[in-house]
Amino acid sequence: MPRCADVSCGRWRPEVLAPRWASGIRFNGRWYCSRTCVEHAARAGLDTPAVPAAPAVALPPLKLGVLLRHLGVISEADLNRALESQRQTGLRLGAELQRLGLVPAEPIVRALAAQGGVSYLPAFDIGRVTRGPAWLPADTVRALGVVPFEVDEARKTLRVVCSAPVPRTAMRALLKLTGWSAEAYLIEDELLQQSLRAYRPVHATAQIGEAITVAGVAAAAARVADTALAGRALTMKSARCDRYTWVRLEGPSHVSDLLVSRAPERINARRSV
Ligand SMILES: [Zn+2]
Repeated sequence: MPRCADVSCGRWRPEVLAPRWASGIRFNGRWYCSRTCVEHAARAGLDTPAVPAAPAVALPPLKLGVLLRHLGVISEADLNRALESQRQTGLRLGAELQRLGLVPAEPIVRALAAQGGVSYLPAFDIGRVTRGPAWLPADTVRALGVVPFEVDEARKTLRVVCSAPVPRTAMRALLKLTGWSAEAYLIEDELLQQSLRAYRPVHATAQIGEAITVAGVAAAAARVADTALAGRALTMKSARCDRYTWVRLEGPSHVSDLLVSRAPERINARRSV
């Protein structure tokens, strides 16, 4: 006869004929006696620091300025001028070059794609992002910063648009939580912002495809416990992204996402491109 999987509880599991209210909750495949014990387990799971994946490339990427010089789209003098004024504006080099009107958007996206080792799209029809998979809620996509525009069922791959730098953490999280890999295509920042706003999953239903944003691990654990209690069985997977911990909850007939924000100063520390 097993015990509650919460070590600080250890209550014995009741006999099979116990009434339903005493039958406990299955969480991540283990038996817990109560909502409180699931909340403990969820909290412990979300507090465990994720081991950062080792970077795939050991060498530092070529600098954007070097790549643009190599592509022959800017003179040494203009590049130096942009690097100089960049110190005043605090913009990233690509944005600074466009602000000064020294290089158009297309070669910059091309160079950034070469730098990140991904493909790029010089133009992009925003309408393509309204056909995302039903299991990827719009709020989750906005949190990840990668927008699906094509689904390859056979290869279990999502083609996604993103802007530089390539959001590797989000792509790893997508693979970990859904089993789908992402193939990144770089587009201009402005197009990405439009894509993020326009994204809609196909056939989103009440059972699948919702995402709720909560502040902090304690609030997330409480939410997980409520969901587990309602369905009596739940699996929780989580992955760290730049600004959120993405938590996916899979019940017997329901999939939902929790986007757990961290301390406010970390949220505001988002890079500016
Ligand atoms: Zn317990």
